[in-house]
Amino acid sequence: MEVPLTPLEFMRRTRRLHAHREAVIDGSQRWTYGEFFARCDRWSSALQRLGVVQGDRVAYISPNTHAQLESFYAVPQLGAVLVPLNFRLTADDFRYMIQHSGAKVVCVAHEYLEAIDSIRRDLTGVTQFVALDGAGRFDWLPYETLIANASPDFTRPAIGENDLLTINYTSGTTSRPKGVMITHRNAWMNSVGMLAHTPMTPADTYLWTLPMFHANGWTFTWTVTAAGARHVCLPKFDAATVFRLAREEQVTRLCAAPTVLIMLASAPAEVQHGTPRGVGVMTAGAPPAAVTIERIEDELGWVITQIYGLTETAPAISICEPLPEHASLPAGARARIKARQGVELITSGELRVVDEQGREVPADGTTAGEIVARGNVIMAGYYNDPDATAQCMGDGWFHTGDAAVVHPDGYVQITDRLKDVIISGGENISSVEVEAMLLRHDAIQEAAVVGLPSEKWGESPHAFVVFKSGHTASPEVLREFCRANLAHFKVPHGFTPVAELPKTATGKIQKFVLRKGRPNLSAQ
Ligand code: AMP
Repeated sequence: MEVPLTPLEFMRRTRRLHAHREAVIDGSQRWTYGEFFARCDRWSSALQRLGVVQGDRVAYISPNTHAQLESFYAVPQLGAVLVPLNFRLTADDFRYMIQHSGAKVVCVAHEYLEAIDSIRRDLTGVTQFVALDGAGRFDWLPYETLIANASPDFTRPAIGENDLLTINYTSGTTSRPKGVMITHRNAWMNSVGMLAHTPMTPADTYLWTLPMFHANGWTFTWTVTAAGARHVCLPKFDAATVFRLAREEQVTRLCAAPTVLIMLASAPAEVQHGTPRGVGVMTAGAPPAAVTIERIEDELGWVITQIYGLTETAPAISICEPLPEHASLPAGARARIKARQGVELITSGELRVVDEQGREVPADGTTAGEIVARGNVIMAGYYNDPDATAQCMGDGWFHTGDAAVVHPDGYVQITDRLKDVIISGGENISSVEVEAMLLRHDAIQEAAVVGLPSEKWGESPHAFVVFKSGHTASPEVLREFCRANLAHFKVPHGFTPVAELPKTATGKIQKFVLRKGRPNLSAQ
């Protein structure tokens, strides 16, 4: 007997067993699982009436609200494909991703209605525009009214485990994002692996500090529901609200990129006061520093578990699994182990660190190689991009582009990124994209953007620029230029003029030299 592996099975089980339990809290609103799934059903029914059929794409631009959470059930149970977009991007980015995904319906939170209105004439493939919240607007369908008027009945098609569940856009290393195709099976596997390693129960309460769009909220959009635990929505991150909700709702679990951990650890004592201890925190997205882990565990009494992965791997392919022998170590030594990315999960498949010939590197803690993986969490490929798909997984292994060493205990530790994506505040920034924008400035001849360490953001983009002969521009002018043309989180925090960029014999810019902060500054 075979039943397709899909997160929709979690929905079925939880509806049966936990319908009476509180499921979702969003501001002053609260729903039980029975009420929450009834809303999902009505929204599926409304979408069906709007013409959405199996295989259609439905895009969302929304912070962490109950409406965004509903999309993770209402869209897939129609056999349609959810496309949750990074709301921090620009109208230009939204245009590209909506067009590239071929979305039929676009659902937008009030903060982003204007951005979409500004590009609406280009979105000729979109048949319906839905405003998820806010006061009614001309030409936008109101979400709550559609749900209120919808029948609870809809036709559910047969859904296979290898059918597409979501398309999640990466920022990629080129200027254009790639659409990661995640199947029902991928998401089920990752969810079960997460739950096996860090179990939850109906007694748990999960706080949404991590954006739901980011690799489907590391599948917590489904795992919290699978456990019958409570979701507490957090549309806008700030440390004071995190601590207040942690106290008021007795939060037991949350996910946070290292930069968010730093913000939480740095909050004033009066803001942190009275926070429950023992909160289980999952961290990923960038390497967390041991000192950050130590501070959170020591000062707040929270327990950190690091996972590692990519949007392409649904996302977790490693976890820093705690071992009994770690427990007796002094706090500092334990934090240093927790700062490692760890070992493969039970469900994620095989993980190796290999050299350029594909041979495993020795487990000596010093020889670096590339992390590769194969297993049931690896994406089906990049949407409409067979070349990029073949490039990263054509040999039967998914190549992560992350460089790592293997310690003698088998635990993997990332040392660098092979690619030059900058991760600032947990979000990827393509240096190539920022460089391309800088090159459009009249005074700039060449530019290279690298991530430099930042206490607040983990790392922040920094631009090294070579001016055209007889030209110059102040950092303020360049910053304004970037702010006008890029999503603000991508704007370089600093600009260093240089006489020339360090390059290899074949003309490639040596970014590691720039990162070390030793460019030729003789031009200044
Ligand atoms: P994304 O697809 O946006 O999740 O970004 C994936 C990239 O984030 C990986 O290729 C890594 O470079 C980085 N990353 C994710 N988790 C970790 C981690 N725990 N430690 C270090 N880097 C990480």
